Amino acid sequence: MFDESNPQVLVAGAGPVGLFAALNLARRGVRTAVVDTGVWPCKHSYALALHPESVSLLEQAGIAKQVLEGARLVRSVAVCDASGTVAEARLDDLPGSDTPLAVTRQDHLESALEAALKAQGVEVRWRHEVSALTQGDEAVKVVLGRLEKESRGYIVAHTEWVIGKTMEVEAPFVVGADGYNSRVRRAMQIDFPEVGGAEYYAVFECQCAGDGGDQLKLVVGDGTADVMWPLPGNAVRWSFQLTDYADEEAEILKDKLLAAGFGYFPTERAKDRVAGGGDQGMEMLSDEHFRKLLAERAPWFKGEIEGIRWRTVVRFERRLAQSFGQGRMWLAGDSAHLTGPAGIQSMNAGLAEAADLSGELAAVVMQGAPAAGLEAYSARWQATWRKLHQVGGAASAKPGAPELIHSNAARLVSCLPANAKHIGVLAGRLGIRI
Ligand SMILES: Cc1cc2nc3c(=O)[nH]c(=O)nc-3n(C[C@H](O)[C@H](O)[C@H](O)COP(=O)(O)OP(=O)(O)OC[C@H]3O[C@@H](n4cnc5c(N)ncnc54)[C@H](O)[C@@H]3O)c2cc1C
Repeated sequence: MFDESNPQVLVAGAGPVGLFAALNLARRGVRTAVVDTGVWPCKHSYALALHPESVSLLEQAGIAKQVLEGARLVRSVAVCDASGTVAEARLDDLPGSDTPLAVTRQDHLESALEAALKAQGVEVRWRHEVSALTQGDEAVKVVLGRLEKESRGYIVAHTEWVIGKTMEVEAPFVVGADGYNSRVRRAMQIDFPEVGGAEYYAVFECQCAGDGGDQLKLVVGDGTADVMWPLPGNAVRWSFQLTDYADEEAEILKDKLLAAGFGYFPTERAKDRVAGGGDQGMEMLSDEHFRKLLAERAPWFKGEIEGIRWRTVVRFERRLAQSFGQGRMWLAGDSAHLTGPAGIQSMNAGLAEAADLSGELAAVVMQGAPAAGLEAYSARWQATWRKLHQVGGAASAKPGAPELIHSNAARLVSCLPANAKHIGVLAGRLGIRI
């Protein structure tokens, strides 16, 4: 049963962004409630790295030590082509963040955030779905459905999660951190247009004979941007962009939704992911295809692969919400933006948005600050994301930069492991002017 009385802010979604927003609010003394449709915390590791800026934010929130336990620290990034390294930049001495980038599992981050939130007296209400929201003058009316197990079927019995009890909660403010298909965003009818075509990636996590090193490799090819992450232990993750593959069903659905005027609906994401240890009968996930991609795009890679422990194909849409909220409902994280996987920008910018938005909300709720701060939040992150997505494509190579940088400046910006604070500095170190 939902028992928080009178939350000042209700956070919809307990992914990394919602949990971090809630933690920052609770630490400022704001009465906060968090709900999530999930039955329990996630057990996946989609977004696997924390930018130096995120590590600094976690330090400020007092939980960097727990999160960084067992992480792989990455100190530099190299931009490569098939012949080898073309440009390099350090990541551990960026202005205001003297920490390296940290590679760790997304579920490890979420567990640490949930524990820190609990220590602040806030428990995540799992199995609670935000099913409707109405903005009023003083508060948002939120209808919550509690998911319950129900046995169905006669000959073959099975159980399903269905909405049992529904309840109404009123909160002066709502944070929509409810992911790509955000109910909060849809309740505000905020458009969520594409800023570029979907990108497809084949992802392989490999066990290696030796250490994966402390450098992130971005490999630029003919229309492709691949990435190699060193992982904790003797392992690496290779993500190869696929140019000759598309999920026909997803693309047709997207076109149909657009034609019907539903531009704000991204296509179902979880279905696009084929997870598991084997190649699932997909040629593009076979050992042979992996070795072919390595030989063609990164022949210089000398890591001795002992086995592929996980492989998948993912479709990444590129979208940006037309605003980050209005009135009493505000968005952060994947509910407001989607991008490709190379720079892990969506989760990391989401963490920075969560910190920023919770500061603005706490000022309004606790000190009666004017709501203009919230409008400014939206404008700030719109501008940041237009830069990260290179809407209008203003990036160019600095004089004297290598040819690979000249011909790929704009697309490289969306692949760098940086967001608001460091994107310009890091791009500059690689010869790119934004
Ligand atoms: C299938 C998939 C694959 C991905 N692969 C990668 C990758 O390879 N690399 C990468 O960098 N990023 C990847 N991402 C994105 C990355 O996981 C996100 O950027 C990151 O999780 C930060 O997201 P978030 O907290 O904003 O949203 P999420 O992590 O999506 O969390 C949103 C939460 O909201 C909850 N929710 C949704 N609707 C409701 C509702 N109506 N009521 C209550 N709760 C609700 C969900 O259960 C979820 O827990 C992937 C995401 C998905 C879904």
